[in-house]
Amino acid sequence: MTIIRNVKIFSQGNICRGEIIIDGNGTIADIIHAEENPFYEKEKDTVYDGKGFLLLPGIIDTHVHFRDPGLTRKGDLETESRAAAAGGVTTVLDMPNTLPPTVNEKALSDKMESAREKSCIHCGFFIGATEENASHTDDFTEACGIKLFLGSSTGNMVLTERESIEKLFRQRKHVLVVHCEDDGIISDNMKEAIERYGEDIPFRLHPYIRSREACIKSTRYALEMAVKYGTRLHIAHVSTAEEVTMIAKAKRLNPDITAETCVNYLWFDDSPSGPEGENIYDMKKAFVKCNPSIKTEKDRKALLKAVINGTIDSVATDHAPHLEEEKMQAYGKAPSGMPSIQHSLQMMLTISENEPSLTIGKIVELMCGKPSEIFSLGDRGRIARGLKADFVLVNPEKYVRVVRKIPEIRENDLGYSVIAYKCGWSPIENEILRGEIVATFVEGKPVYQNEAYNL
Ligand SMILES: [Zn+2]
Repeated sequence: MTIIRNVKIFSQGNICRGEIIIDGNGTIADIIHAEENPFYEKEKDTVYDGKGFLLLPGIIDTHVHFRDPGLTRKGDLETESRAAAAGGVTTVLDMPNTLPPTVNEKALSDKMESAREKSCIHCGFFIGATEENASHTDDFTEACGIKLFLGSSTGNMVLTERESIEKLFRQRKHVLVVHCEDDGIISDNMKEAIERYGEDIPFRLHPYIRSREACIKSTRYALEMAVKYGTRLHIAHVSTAEEVTMIAKAKRLNPDITAETCVNYLWFDDSPSGPEGENIYDMKKAFVKCNPSIKTEKDRKALLKAVINGTIDSVATDHAPHLEEEKMQAYGKAPSGMPSIQHSLQMMLTISENEPSLTIGKIVELMCGKPSEIFSLGDRGRIARGLKADFVLVNPEKYVRVVRKIPEIRENDLGYSVIAYKCGWSPIENEILRGEIVATFVEGKPVYQNEAYNL
């Protein structure tokens, strides 16, 4: 038996003091409340002292790009799973745009094998929809879902044939996760920008090139199809206020439709925030370039409202690391995507400081409960008897600064979160976040522990 003692346990919407008993299979055998009879450990039991910190279910991030295989200069299953664990994430669902892309049985089983060897957390893998596999996606019994890039340019996984797209919306076996951005609109905008600026396109044009209209058009189409065919559609990374309104309407017609946004869209917007009226694109350039683009303050606020009222079901990261030198290039060349998995929980805790209705319970629902429900991961996502002993132990009272390395002279009362990504950078470097990740447990075993905390 393993015992995690002296913790505040978040279970069934309440926080209570107690301890968790974990059996030999990494499953929660019992939850003992402090006022009940204490569980007396035997000599061979492993006991962790939780020091009174808050124990939450491990975060389930249903949208990540760990870059393995083929793009491992940017990240791999070992490095990115460690960074995830440092952020309290215990399960990830990884996207198929690797090299080779995950579009057949062989690529899928190779990834699963590789994850067993290299990852310190649980990994599931999406199958990327192609013209070739669209008619037999039911065969991919081990996939966690199907990823469809609907008119967006990500290698060879763009589906434009209406017939194949319909097959995917008609299938019943898998959740269909769709990246919605209309390619035609984007390439017209890009052409216009090149004509005007040549090589030197200002980064602040990103949300006008990868525009809201591109998102809206594509999301409208996906929602119409899902209503028509009753699909279990999950709209990935919603980034505009208009999509929120459309999703709310479509959900009334097909309750199986779900939607996700990512922490970056709740954190950043393109309003002037610098001393001379610069916005994040002027200041951070390609380091905040992602697809869909980060949009306006109005969009950010609408998304925040939507995660609180449940129109948007879940919050993921779209963790997508690239090398710094790749990001230093001009607009047209710098790849889109940024690393974010290590700080998603802390970013949400920080946002909640100014948003009282974003409670701890709500955050757990968005990052654990709903992801588990949508992707049928019934053995996790809550702290309850019989489920996996996947936890994050967090101190919500402490603040940490995101750094590349701990400074020699420490700031008073401030903790540090050292960037663990293989790419070595973060778009929120130097920022102060609420909450310290004290430890992360996968099946009852600590896979991460804070520098100041010896379990
Ligand atoms: Zn993505």
